[in-house]
Amino acid sequence: MRVLIDESAVRQGVERLAREIISDYEPRPLTILGVMTGSLVLLADLIRQLDLQIRVGVIQASSYRGGTVRGELVIDDRWMPEIEGHEVLLVDDIFDTGHTLDKIVKRIRVRQPKSIRSAVLLTKLGRSEVQIKPDYSVFEIPDEFVVGYGLDYQDEYRHLPHIAVLEAADLA
Ligand code: 5GP
Ligand code: MG
Repeated sequence: MRVLIDESAVRQGVERLAREIISDYEPRPLTILGVMTGSLVLLADLIRQLDLQIRVGVIQASSYRGGTVRGELVIDDRWMPEIEGHEVLLVDDIFDTGHTLDKIVKRIRVRQPKSIRSAVLLTKLGRSEVQIKPDYSVFEIPDEFVVGYGLDYQDEYRHLPHIAVLEAADLA
């Protein structure tokens, strides 16, 4: 595995993101919705830096069926908080083709939030297949399969404090 973004760069990036979010929303209350499971680590680090009035909930989305190839996208929003009239910020690990965020945004709009924006740690360059873009993106990366800081390969590697590229030899 090759380290792409080391731990201190990730930390500084998340701090930058938190400052931007605070300056855009303060003093308005905000509902943060983490897209599970990939946003787990980012969500935990980010919310502790948001000196705002926030509520935190999660929404489940999964498209990878145990590998690096996209499967059918399943969204489960049964446990998310009431958001009608609230300002919502979706937090996800990575914007790749964009289908996940696009579908979640459409699903959430139906519930009539006051506003909806999205934040991701990573955006893969040249991969988008949708009209929307994340409102906040910390790092742009090349089209490689990455793990760490919440991102997994078959639910492994989520705990790594950095972002690493999973190479062919790792996929055995
Ligand atoms: P999209 O719908 O934008 O194509 O993909 C978004 C989801 O696919 C992300 O939330 C993430 O779970 C997964 N994904 C996309 N690219 C990668 C990657 O390079 N590594 C890992 N571990 N997951 C990825
Ligand atoms: Mg995901």
